[in-house]
This record gives sequence, C-alpha cells and structure tokens, in this order.
Amino acid sequence: MRALVTGGAGFLGSHLCEHLLSCGWKVVCVDNEATGTRRNIHHLINNGDFEFLRADVSSDGLKYNGSLDYVLHLASPASPPDYLRLPIETLRVGSYGTYNALQVAEEKKAKFLLASTSECYGDPEISPQPETYWGRVNPVGPRSVYDEAKRFAEALTMAFHRARGLDTRIVRIFNTYGPRMRLNDGRALPNFVYQALTGKPMTVYGDGSQTRSFCYVSDLIEGIHRLMQSDEHNPVNIGNPQEVTILEFAQRIKELTGSQVPIVFEPLPQDDPKQRCPDIGKARQLLNWEPKVPLHAGLERTLQYFREQLGILASAAPGRDRP
Ligand code: NAD
Ligand code: UDP
Repeated sequence: MRALVTGGAGFLGSHLCEHLLSCGWKVVCVDNEATGTRRNIHHLINNGDFEFLRADVSSDGLKYNGSLDYVLHLASPASPPDYLRLPIETLRVGSYGTYNALQVAEEKKAKFLLASTSECYGDPEISPQPETYWGRVNPVGPRSVYDEAKRFAEALTMAFHRARGLDTRIVRIFNTYGPRMRLNDGRALPNFVYQALTGKPMTVYGDGSQTRSFCYVSDLIEGIHRLMQSDEHNPVNIGNPQEVTILEFAQRIKELTGSQVPIVFEPLPQDDPKQRCPDIGKARQLLNWEPKVPLHAGLERTLQYFREQLGILASAAPGRDRP
C-alpha cells in the first residue's frame, strides 16, 4: 500500500506518516513547511519506504509518478494564530489544495481522506456536537478563513464522491495534542506549557469558562486508520469527549509542571467557541473506536517532549527567547 500524505511534515501529519510506515506502507509526504517543519520527519528521511516532496498543494498541484492507494489530505494551517496570519493561504489550501488532492486521488484511483475539523460546528448551540449538527459559523468573521475553507473542502469532497464516484472519507478532528506541536504555534496547550516551564504568566483568554475536549495524538491516529478502512463517506467525529474549561486546563498544566507562575486573563478572541465536545457515538458504533489515553497521561508525555525541546534549544541557541 502506498499513501500520499499532504501536510505530512506537520504535527498530526508526521504522526500519521510514522504510523503508516510502521504498518508496512510506503508513504509520500508532501509539505511546503508553511506551519510544519522537516524536523518532524527527520527520523523518517532515511527509511526507504518514505519520500518527502516539498511542494505547495494549492499552487503547484500534486504530481506523483507512481501508483497510490490513498491520498490523505491534512495540509492546512490549523492553529488560530497561524490561520489568522495566513488567511488567504488557508482559504487556498482548503479550496485549490483540496481540489488538487482530490484530482490526484481520482487519477490514481486511490481512496481519499479529508482532515476536517470540529470548527465546522463554529460556536455551537448544542453540546456535545453530533455529525448531524450543521453548525453556527460566522461566514465573515476572522475565523471564517479556516471554518469556511474546511466546510468548502467537505462539500467538495462529497461532490467528488457523489458526482465522480470517488471513494472518500471525512474525519472531523477535535482539539488534539501531543509531541511535535510547535512550541510557538499559539494554541492553548503549547502556550500554557511554554509559559509554565519558562516562568511566564499563563494567559487565559476571557474568563476561562469556555470548554474544549483534548484528544491525545495516538488515539486520533488510530481513529483515522480505522476510518480509512471503513466504508463511511459521511463525516465522522474523532475526539475525546472529556470536556474541561480552559481555566481548569491551565490549572492542570500548572500543577503538572509544578510551576508557581500566575494565571492572567486576556481578552477573548472574536467568535471564540464557548463549548466544544464531540459526540463520538458514530465512531464508537462504526469503527469500534474510543480514546484510550487519559488527559493526565497524555499531558505527561507531551510535557516530557516540550521539556526536551526547551533543553535542546536552550543549549543550541543560548539567549534565544523562543523557538
Ligand atoms: P500543522 O500546522 O502542524 O500541520 C499542517 C501541515 O500542513 C504543516 O506541515 C504545513 O506546512 C502544511 N501545509 C499547509 N499549507 C500547505 C500547502 N499549501 N501545501 C503543502 N503543505 C501545506 O497542523 P496540525 O495540527 O498537524 O493539523 C493537520 C490537519 O488536521 C489540518 O488540516 C487541520 O485543519 C486538521 N485539524 C487539526 C486539529 C488539531 O487539533 N491538531 C484539529 C482539527 C483539525
Ligand atoms: N486560549 C487561551 N490562552 C492561550 C491560547 C488559547 O485561553 O494562550 C483559549 C482560546 O481562546 C480557546 C481555547 O483556549 O478558547 C483553545 O484555543 P486553541 O487555540 O488551542 O484552539 P481552538 O479550539 O480555539 O481552535
């Protein structure tokens, strides 16, 4: 089996490449390093079953000469500060990038999987969110560059399935964390960990009563693998339904690190969802999947990674404030 993974040098993409290789697959990783880095796949480069192609899937298209069994489309900025900094690029990769990836899958007669997001539900009126909920998205707000790009990508994927008979899957990923998140990607977990480990105040936005549900990366990858092997074409939520407020989340990280830093409150970004929790009934029933890694265990593993990163970077570049 050979899979082409767009965004394979990113946080989730690198774990997916690694997982597929460990299953005996060949992997072609395509990435332009917009928000990822080849350091994430450094340990795979000498593997004969792994190829890295540096390309922008939105503009260069996707050219690959060999056969492919799967195209897994993960390329897209994912952290709010990243997509707010790269608004046009985010819309381009959700639209042109998804179109190019779908076309390669069609040409190669490969199966296609879209990495979609819980952001399709926007700031939801119901919780937990089932796949049948259509969402509440501000189409012109700052977050729309990501939310609407992903909603368009889902619509395009379903159109290729219905009109062209392409064998497609859509995974709606809820907040996922783990090693290889960028320390400076601006998401809650890297921010809190970085702040706690380096003695800076932990910045909770708003009053911290908004909720998220954090899934450890190995659980997500297992869910994606099972979805790839299923026959389901409609979206499937993959996430951990253990919901926490962001203030509780900051406090958990503060306790785990043993840090004494203060928690400070900063303005809530516009359209920040008040609650987010996956209904995983469909994944349970269809894929016999549910998350296995409890929050404290996942956080311990992630902290270990960030400690190593900070140690390595501190000795490699003394005086550098932030990687
Ligand atoms: P990431 O930023 O670490 O990885 C995205 C990768 O895509 C990066 O390596 C980046 O360089 C690459 N990329 C971006 N634009 C590209 C382009 N035009 N051409 C080629 N490569 C490009 O983010 P992540 O957290 O690993 O997210 C991966 C996917 O999963 C994204 O599609 C994201 O929307 C989705 N997702 C992630 C989460 C999460 O919690 N991590 C939640 C929901 C959805
Ligand atoms: N957040 C926070 N402090 C930070 C970064 C984020 O309080 O330093 C909040 C953010 O406003 C949101 C939640 O934490 O309510 C999760 O943010 P993240 O960027 O991780 O992901 P999102 O779910 O918003 O895409």
